[in-house]
Order: sequence, then C-alpha cells, then structure tokens
Amino acid sequence: MLGLLRRITQEVTAAQSLPAALDIIVRRVRRAMRAEVCSIYLVDPNSQDYILMATRGLNSEVAGQASLKPDEGLVSLVGRRAEPVNLEDAHSHPSFHYLKGTGEERYQSFLGVPIIHHRQVLGVLVVQHEEKRRFDEGEEAFLITLSAQLAGVIAHAEATGAMTSLNSNAKPEGDLRYKGIAGSSGVGIAKAIVIYPPADLNVIPDRKVTDVEAELSAFNAALLAVRKDIKKAGNRLSKHLSSDEKALFDVYLKMLDDNALAYEIEQKIRGGNWAQGALREVVQFHVSHFDRMDDPYIRERASDLRDLGRRILSHLQENAPNLAQRFSEPAIIVGEELTASMLGEIPLDKIKGLVSVMGSGNSHVAILARAMGIPTVMGALDLPYNQLENVDMIIDGYQGQVFTYPSETLIESFQQIVDEEKALEEEYLTLKDLPCETCDGHRLSLFVNTGLSADIWRSLDRGAEGIGLYRTEVPFMVRERFPTEAEQVAIYRQQLEGFAPAPVTVRTLDVGGDKALPYFPIVEENPFLGWRGIRVTLDHLEIFMAQIRAMIKASDGLHNLKILLPMISNVAEVEDALALVRRAYAEIKEEGYDVRMPEVGVMIEVPAAVYQVKQLASLVDFMSVGSNDLTQYLLAVDRNNPRVADLYNCFHPAVLRALLNIVIEAQHEAISLSVCGEMAGDPMGAILLMAMGYDILSMSATSLPKVKAVIRNITEEQAQLMLEQVIGLAHADAVVQTMNRLMREANIERLVRPSKSKSSK
Ligand code: PEP
Ligand code: MG
Repeated sequence: MLGLLRRITQEVTAAQSLPAALDIIVRRVRRAMRAEVCSIYLVDPNSQDYILMATRGLNSEVAGQASLKPDEGLVSLVGRRAEPVNLEDAHSHPSFHYLKGTGEERYQSFLGVPIIHHRQVLGVLVVQHEEKRRFDEGEEAFLITLSAQLAGVIAHAEATGAMTSLNSNAKPEGDLRYKGIAGSSGVGIAKAIVIYPPADLNVIPDRKVTDVEAELSAFNAALLAVRKDIKKAGNRLSKHLSSDEKALFDVYLKMLDDNALAYEIEQKIRGGNWAQGALREVVQFHVSHFDRMDDPYIRERASDLRDLGRRILSHLQENAPNLAQRFSEPAIIVGEELTASMLGEIPLDKIKGLVSVMGSGNSHVAILARAMGIPTVMGALDLPYNQLENVDMIIDGYQGQVFTYPSETLIESFQQIVDEEKALEEEYLTLKDLPCETCDGHRLSLFVNTGLSADIWRSLDRGAEGIGLYRTEVPFMVRERFPTEAEQVAIYRQQLEGFAPAPVTVRTLDVGGDKALPYFPIVEENPFLGWRGIRVTLDHLEIFMAQIRAMIKASDGLHNLKILLPMISNVAEVEDALALVRRAYAEIKEEGYDVRMPEVGVMIEVPAAVYQVKQLASLVDFMSVGSNDLTQYLLAVDRNNPRVADLYNCFHPAVLRALLNIVIEAQHEAISLSVCGEMAGDPMGAILLMAMGYDILSMSATSLPKVKAVIRNITEEQAQLMLEQVIGLAHADAVVQTMNRLMREANIERLVRPSKSKSSK
C-alpha cells in the first residue's frame, strides 16, 4: 500500500501541468481502488464553485465546465464539512444534486474526501460505484491518505498558474500574490525581466569526435572567456563591496582554476566525447553529488557549479550572454536560481528588486542584496517565473511577497510606501546627529547590527552609536575555509576602527542551526536544537581561541571591543568561555599589544537563559537579548519554516512576558541590557522594549533612522502606557492591533514603514 501511494505521488509530482497531474490522479486512483468512477473537483477561487476538473468514468467532455455551487450537492457537502462523506445510496441523501451531462445517474455509492492544504479546502476527490455498497474503512483511509499527500502538489500547480491555463478565457486576475522569504528589505515596483541560465546543460547529448585537439582548445578558450566574464562582474560590483565580500567571486574563479574539474573534463574529451558533452557529464556528476547533501550550504555550491557549467557551455556555443543590453529601463530581476555572478552582469541602477524562486535568506545573492540595499524576495517557490517576462510586478522585501499583475489600487498603495520611504529617507538624514531621546528626555542608545564590511559605512551614515552585534559568521560564510588568525585580525579591525571610539560588540562564531559554513558542514536531524553557537566553538578550541585572539589583537590601541557569546544555555559555558578569553588576553598582552581586557557579555536567546539571568549577570558585563531565537525557542516555531511562519511572532504574549522578566531579574544587577534581534528594529517593538527598560537597541542600518524618528516623537510616559495596555492581552494579534491603534493616536504611525516584525531575517 505504501509503495502504491509513493508511486502515485511521485508520478503526480513529476507531471508537467495541473491537468496532467489531475489526470494521473483520477486514472491511478480508479485503478488502485477498482472503482468505476474517480473524479476531482477543485474550488474556483473567485466563485467558490466546485468545478469538475478531471474524471475517469463520468463524461470527461464536461470536465472544466460542469460545476456545483458552494452549497450544491454532495461534493460541496464534503468541502463545507472538510470531512469525508461515504454513502451506500447517494441518491437518497438530501444533499444529492445531479450534475447534468456527467452521466453520474448510474452510480449509487459515493465516497468523497476533501483535499486540504494549509487549512484551506482546495477541492474534493470522489470515487463512485454502480452497485449499492458502502466503501469500506480501508478504502476510505487510502483515499484520505492519498488526498493529504497530493494536496501540496495540487496547491503548487494551482499557484503556479496552471489552473488559469485550463480555462482559456481566463486572464490572470490582478494582484496575484506569491509568498517567499524576505531576503532584503524594501519595496520595488517595475516590470519583470526574467533571466535564464545562459545555456541548458541538461539537454546536451554526447557526441563522438575525432579531432580531440580542436575540442580541447575550444574548451580551454571557453574557460578563459568565463574567467574574464566573472572578473568583469566582480569588478563591476567592486565599488560596493569590500575585499571580503568579493571573495564570493573568488570562490567562482577558484572553482574554474581548480585543476581537478578542468582535468576531469579534459579526460572525458580525450575519451572521445565532444567538449559540450564532456562538460555536461562532469558537471552533472558533481551537482548530483552536492544536491544529495542535506546541508543547504553545500547545496548552494551545486548552484554555483551549475551556473559555471552553463557559462562555459554558452561560450562553447558562441553565444555569450549579454544581459546588460536587455535592461533599458530599471526592472525587477526574476529567475529560477539567481546567482551572485548574474547580479554582477547587470548595471546596478537598473535593478529595482530581485526575486529568486530557489534559495533562502542565506544564499549569496541575498547576502549581497542586503549589503547593497536591493529589495529581494527569495524562495518564491510557487512563482510561475517563466510566464512573467515584462509583466508588471511589485516586490515587498519586508514581508517576502511578490505581486504580479497588480491593480492600480495596489500599485498606488505600494507606490505610497516607496514615496514615503523616500521622503522619510530625507527626513531621517536630518536626524543623523540628533540623539535618540524621547520628548520627555529619556535617552536610548541605538546601535547597529553588522556582518559585511559594507554595513559599516551605511551605519555611520545613519548615525549609529556603536555596533551592538557584529555577526562574525558572515565573513566566515563568504570564504572557502576558516580565515586564519591574521586574516581575522584584518576583518575585525575594519569594524573596530570604523566605529572607534564607539563600542563594537563582536559575537563569537554562531554557526549551526540555519547558519552553516560550506567547509564545515553540520548535518543533524534537529539543527536548531543541536550543535550550534557556543556549543560548537567550545568543542573546537582552535577555532574559538583563534577568534578571540584575533578580536583582542584587532582592538590594539582602540579599546572599544566587547565580546558576545551566542546560544548560552548554562552557566558552565560562560565560565569556560570567560577563562579562555582571560587566557587569550593575558597572552596577547604579554606579546606587547596595547590592549585592555574586553567586556564580555552573553546572548539571552534560549529560554533557559531567561530563567538564569541573575546567575549569568554575576559573571558577565552585559547581556543582549536575541529576540529572533528567543521567539523561535519559546514558541517552538522554526524561524525559517514558511509552513509555520504565521505562528512566528515576537509580539506573542509569552515572548513579551519573557522580555519583561529579563529586565525585572536584571534590575538590581550592575549590568547593561540590550536587544539585538529584529524586534529592536521594528518601531512597535522598540517602543515596547524601551518601556520595559532596555537601554540599548541594536538593529540593521536600514531600520535605525525609523526607530529614532519614532522614539523622538513620543514620551517615555506614553510608551509606558502602551506597554501597560498590551502586556496583559491574551493574543498576539490583539497586541499588534492595540499597538497600531495607540501609535495612530500618538501620531507616530506616519513615521513607520511597513513592519517586518514577524520575520526573523
Ligand atoms: C537573535 O537570535 O535574535 C540574534 C540577534 O541572533 P541571530 O539572528 O544571528 O541568530
Ligand atoms: Mg540568535
């Protein structure tokens, strides 16, 4: 039974279109259940009618036309109840409604099960028999299981537009919305330009050649040309990136220089295959190897390799891509798998936004987009990207959503956001040198979160008072191996020097969970509860010590270093880490550097730490709350899983209560308290955190001016009153709605751009 279910699901998943998928379902189910009829009805999203989409056994000529109203017939009864209906004699049921032209009058028994995806009934799967006989429990269970498995596939096919293509008169309705992952904040409105990989390696056949030398020289010329293209792309972006960010392009070049790859291809050519076939063979072999890896970072390498393969191929085919020529007007770039090198080929002033069907917030292209402030949505899995050339589009990088065929009204409302962003941007400039102070004189410090070196200049431009969180895993991520101690000194020095004498909080490597390094894969069943953050580095003293030593050396003569320890879940971890920091400090001092013992702090981002604030406070100099992880761990909601994204909410009453408790516990300890998760950069979050008593908020450079503007326009008393009104509420939605109302009444709503409080990136 399991094998049969799996085979059907596989066949359906591999179908090219929704009609093909539905046809496979009805055909296979009818055979598997030895039923006389199997049909699928899908709910029309506009009318809510149940449309007979595919059938075996009934008159298939009416498929696509015959339909039942939302309150008509047994099919809609199944849909309304969202439960199976199993009848021996369907005709005698009060809800029975004969659907004309289908020929179903002969069939007496009826079993219908709902097709449900994300709580929504998509349609109904029906089997029927002529004989009056109730379908048995086993049959019912089989159909329910199958329907549950197929719901996701059907939802995907529907979302990608296959549904509209069935009905030839239907034009795409306006405001089609596709969900993805917020990759880089901002809004873009423009036509889409779809970029395809330059050439399709997968369709290249093998071909025997006799002139091996000619193939070899063609291959080497293509390699050379690709190397040149990539260097050019890297140089085009070089104004915007520091040397470590450009390392992304070096990874590409290294892959090309890697003799192993070129050698393997040459060997295949010498074996008699033509250059294009040899290239396909080698690239496919390695890609399939990478693709099987669970680690998302290793899979990213497969994407780099595929991209390289296509580039070499396009040169072999003598039609090198010239993307730049397609961009006369600024556009939103859409692609199945955007890569960093593609980005390098397009003039930056022509890019209004990026949408990639594949990839996550950690993909290289997303990292670059954030550094350059380009609105980006990643992982828009349902987007029918190949139907979108020149289609009007809105991309919302705050919420991770894309709209195609937007209506005038929607364009207007998003244009308003763009205009407000622009106007606010100008207003913000005037705030740069003003303190972040409430109208009644309460002073708050606004720090910035950094990762790339490009972040430093943007942060200084926006008046950041220090770095509250420097995520050191970012420079580690864009390399191919662990940076040496000396390399790390140079990287950290940029941050420390850029901000001196203001404090710079450098966090020790926080890999594991969703942040892995390509050269240090951690494959686990449950990565967020596994080997992550301080747990990894304390197990690898060589990594930890090199990092701590590099941080302290980098602070030579500057004295503005603070060290932050991530993922602390017990006191022993802090004691061990502190001993190591003291040892490193003593060694470096002895080596003659002009350094001071840095302040050491812990992140409060695991529920256990919330309950040990007092004990932790007695050991360290400061605490920084990681609201992203704290929300994830308190609510047991994976911060990157789109299926449970609606449950991830930092305004959940339990999260607010935990945040308040931290302040209460810490109030008699001599310790500074900050928040460095995304919540701090959300104006609503910032107001509540200030009211609770946090004195430093650290956020992205983009959010900083907005938070400052809001804080400068209310009083501390107002903020306290807001907190009082929401802290006892039972629902997250109620908290958000109440805060929205209070902010409107306080006349600070206009200062606020779209909130991204629910996302973690
Ligand atoms: C957090 O968890 O809130 C945090 C700031 O750390 P990161 O997002 O890097 O896990
Ligand atoms: Mg964290």
